[in-house]
Amino acid sequence: MTFSNGVAAALKKVTIRTEAFIGGEFTPARSGETLPCITPIDGSEIAQLSACDAADVDAAVQAARASFESGVWSKMPPRKRRQVMLAFADKIEAHSDELALLETLDMGKPIRNTRNADIPLVVQTIRYYAEAIDKIYDELGPSPHDAVSMIVREPLGVVGAVTPWNFPLLMASWKFAPALATGNSVIMKPAEQASLTMLRAAELAQEAGIPAGVLNVVPGDGAKAGKALALHMDVDALVFTGSTAVGKLIMGYGAQSNLKRVALECGGKSPQIIMEDCPDFDAAASAAAWAVFYDQGQVCTAGTRLLVQNSIKDEFLAKVAAVAKGLKPGDPLDENTRFGALVDETQMNTVLGYIEKGGAEGAKLVCGGERALSESGGFYVAPTIFDGVDNQMTIAQEEIFGPVISAIGFDDFDDAMRIANDTIYGLAAGIWTSNLNYAHKASRTIRAGNVWVNCWDGSDITTPFGGFKQSGFGRDRSLHALDKYTELKTIWMKLS
Ligand code: NAD
Repeated sequence: MTFSNGVAAALKKVTIRTEAFIGGEFTPARSGETLPCITPIDGSEIAQLSACDAADVDAAVQAARASFESGVWSKMPPRKRRQVMLAFADKIEAHSDELALLETLDMGKPIRNTRNADIPLVVQTIRYYAEAIDKIYDELGPSPHDAVSMIVREPLGVVGAVTPWNFPLLMASWKFAPALATGNSVIMKPAEQASLTMLRAAELAQEAGIPAGVLNVVPGDGAKAGKALALHMDVDALVFTGSTAVGKLIMGYGAQSNLKRVALECGGKSPQIIMEDCPDFDAAASAAAWAVFYDQGQVCTAGTRLLVQNSIKDEFLAKVAAVAKGLKPGDPLDENTRFGALVDETQMNTVLGYIEKGGAEGAKLVCGGERALSESGGFYVAPTIFDGVDNQMTIAQEEIFGPVISAIGFDDFDDAMRIANDTIYGLAAGIWTSNLNYAHKASRTIRAGNVWVNCWDGSDITTPFGGFKQSGFGRDRSLHALDKYTELKTIWMKLS
């Protein structure tokens, strides 16, 4: 099977920008270095991406600083800033088919996901923060009658954002939209595996009226461009989404440089708990499967630890396995495909390595477990379920970031709570139960930033998103996210 004709046809419908976007202009990396951009759909090269390093990052910081100090954006009247951001959202919406195609080409998730979820959610995110701009008030303190105390929010200045490849433009928008809304100038460092939509979006931002230098993009390797941005002495904040290992480095860079503010959205190993009094086993089985197989498991909140009460485990897992077996990996560009490619060959091999380890440590393979569609040249792994997993096994403790469910049996509610919290992560969790006490107790007992009851992945731009423990700190989405991009200033005025 070959998907190459589809890739070639899709490439004709998109605009590919590969150079850094600095000060309102596309420019090659100063070193002249590039990185191959491989589509995981068929393993072919679709572009050469500029590989920025410290020199390019420095130029971007200078452009961002100059734009910030000039006040062209930071001091633009709020209503005008709102209008420009709404125009930016309109531009993304007008180009949503193109951006969805570009995202699918770049990182291999099904076109139905990028078209129906990723890009519409980017538009929603930009609109939400645009609308906030002229609706949020500062504060007056309860000061004595001969004084006035004002508590005002001011932009930080230059914000750097380092983002992952799993929802490339959506995760980026969770950073740049609130950062821009609060008047900052921004430098984005997208993941080297999937930078194309962010580069194209920066161009659309400029067409919408975002002034030059306010939104910059420096593609390239994390260890070069990302590290240089995080270490830069003139960057005021570094907001990050990615793995916990890199998150720890980012915190260190902040400390080693100028004590810049750092916010981290990191990995997860989320438990999804099925109690024997689950109100709807079919709905729960479907949710358990999709919690891991959506976007081929490359989702930070994926419910990869499936905790099932032993009294119902065999029956329940049979239902989940039926969903998995019905999910055939397919061409991501085909509208009917629901399960696409992994982002690259490295990620595919990492996932296959974990599957091997699961077997070696004694877990029982229920289905999947192998590479799929290898004749396409792309990077696909079949939906995989392990039963008989012990929570201490590697596949229960480490984030696989692929389509692998680790099913773990438990005896009673307390046992489930103990296993759920026995992880370094705390991003998300879910419980299916008819018992109101269990629902409440689990919601309060599990140390995670999101807890779902009788559903999975319920979310909205209006609600905060982020982790406990080594899943990071700081929140994306909702008005709470604005706190990350502003300083509180107290102004105390003595009246004569
Ligand atoms: P990653 O940590 O490998 O890379 C993330 C970003 O960091 C990339 O842009 C990369 O280039 C950059 N980077 C790598 N090394 C760096 C360094 N030394 N200095 C500075 N930057 C560096 O993560 P990934 O593989 O792109 O994404 C998958 C991870 O992201 C998973 O762990 C997933 O759970 C996490 N994630 C978390 C959330 C969340 O909101 N909590 C959302 C999406 C993804």
